[in-house]
Amino acid sequence: MASVRDADTSGKQLGLRMDDASYYHIKAPSVPARPALARSIRAETAIIGGGLAGLATALSLAERGRTSVLIEARTIGAGASGRNGGMVSAGFAAPTRLLERAAGPEAARSLMRLSREAMDLIRARIDRHAIDCEPVSGVVIASWFDDGEALAAEVEEYNTRYGMRLEYWDRARLLRDFPSPRYWDGMFDPEGFHLDPFALCRGYAVAAEGMGARLFENSPATGLRRIAGGWRVTTREGEVTADRVVLCQSAYPPRLLTAVARATLPVFTYIIVTAPLTGAHAGVIRAPYAVYDNRFATGYYRLLPEGRLLWGGRISTQERPRDLAGLMRRDLALVYPQLADVTIDHAWSGRMGFARHKMPLIRELTPGLWINSCFGGHGLNTTTLGGELVAAAIADGDRRWRLLAPFAPRWVGGALGPLAAQAIYGRARLQDAARAYWHRRRARRRTTVA
Ligand SMILES: Cc1cc2nc3c(=O)[nH]c(=O)nc-3n(C[C@H](O)[C@H](O)[C@H](O)COP(=O)(O)OP(=O)(O)OC[C@H]3O[C@@H](n4cnc5c(N)ncnc54)[C@H](O)[C@@H]3O)c2cc1C
Repeated sequence: MASVRDADTSGKQLGLRMDDASYYHIKAPSVPARPALARSIRAETAIIGGGLAGLATALSLAERGRTSVLIEARTIGAGASGRNGGMVSAGFAAPTRLLERAAGPEAARSLMRLSREAMDLIRARIDRHAIDCEPVSGVVIASWFDDGEALAAEVEEYNTRYGMRLEYWDRARLLRDFPSPRYWDGMFDPEGFHLDPFALCRGYAVAAEGMGARLFENSPATGLRRIAGGWRVTTREGEVTADRVVLCQSAYPPRLLTAVARATLPVFTYIIVTAPLTGAHAGVIRAPYAVYDNRFATGYYRLLPEGRLLWGGRISTQERPRDLAGLMRRDLALVYPQLADVTIDHAWSGRMGFARHKMPLIRELTPGLWINSCFGGHGLNTTTLGGELVAAAIADGDRRWRLLAPFAPRWVGGALGPLAAQAIYGRARLQDAARAYWHRRRARRRTTVA
């Protein structure tokens, strides 16, 4: 039986429901709350949303000597940014073949390069601002399918076309550190890394404030209006008038702008964290890298500094299924039967915003109104990229954001959108399971014949 510990006082202090605080929120040191916005203020740029997208925008503006006011509905990092898997890797939620098809090979290469530069920028900021977010290098992509040739070709393609430094790992190499009976072979990405994302949010917030950004918590924006010479954002008790506004609210209500709400699909995904692994459990996973597999419905994990295992996966229209810990434990046991009886200490869900094409929405919607949102399940590097593109455009007239021009906001299907997403996910899970079954059967036959 899963024994899931409730969020303790630190979760409550962060304004999160008892069942809504992640492991990161619970273990974080308590810090004084920032004020709520309760008066009328002026800003060059108003940013709505205190996840990594909003914080990265504030920090990139500050680094260019530009000031901003950021308002967050709850507390900094309360959304996906402070409760995710913590894996930082190149690329976007959309596959590279979609980038090439929609934007062309040249633009796809530029976008991939920018996504990797954002990873360098995160590392540089961690060092520059002494952000204590426990970064660890190395991400492994484990293959669920017996198709080594295709995987080796993929490694070659990523390296030659996008300048990555992936290594092909055969089965023996992969299983030495990650002994799952489900895995065949894999790729190792030495440039990828993993970290505590809530600590990164807090680090970005403090760094931006240190350079002049003003941050307000518990201040949901309830209205957005164009006024002479700019925009007015209203909150319950205050307002910001600004030359421009950057929308970074992901898939949360209220609907400030119909065009954005219509183009944003909310999707939920889940994580568990075990108790510190001891005895036989402790020796199962033998390397400190983060791992995800190449199913559409991927499962991912990483060891945490206390010897706990973080396991994540699934996407759903349901914010919190009844037996979240049990559901996730079954997924973990499918990959590692050796860990089927570990104690689960924490279980939580997170809300992601997806655009229809799975690429982020980064653009000027109308003069002075920017969006930097919809990073889907691949937001750690891309939110920093989005912050850079928007800030460089505002401060220097930089036009690199136009590389994302082909990825415009498109209707995501209204009330039927989440159901369609759930159906696509369900079908992909079945396809992956069938393909893996045939590969295992074929391998068994080969062994019998031999
Ligand atoms: C469980 C989970 C695991 C994930 N794992 C990974 C991973 O390992 N690697 C990776 O790259 N990506 C991962 N992701 C995706 C990544 O976390 C997101 O893409 C990224 O954090 C999105 O950042 P954001 O700032 O756009 O959204 P959020 O972090 O959700 O921030 C939006 C913020 O806006 C605030 N807000 C909303 N409306 C208003 C309003 N009206 N007024 C004021 N504030 C408002 C919200 O309260 C929230 O704090 C994961 C996501 C989840 C949920």
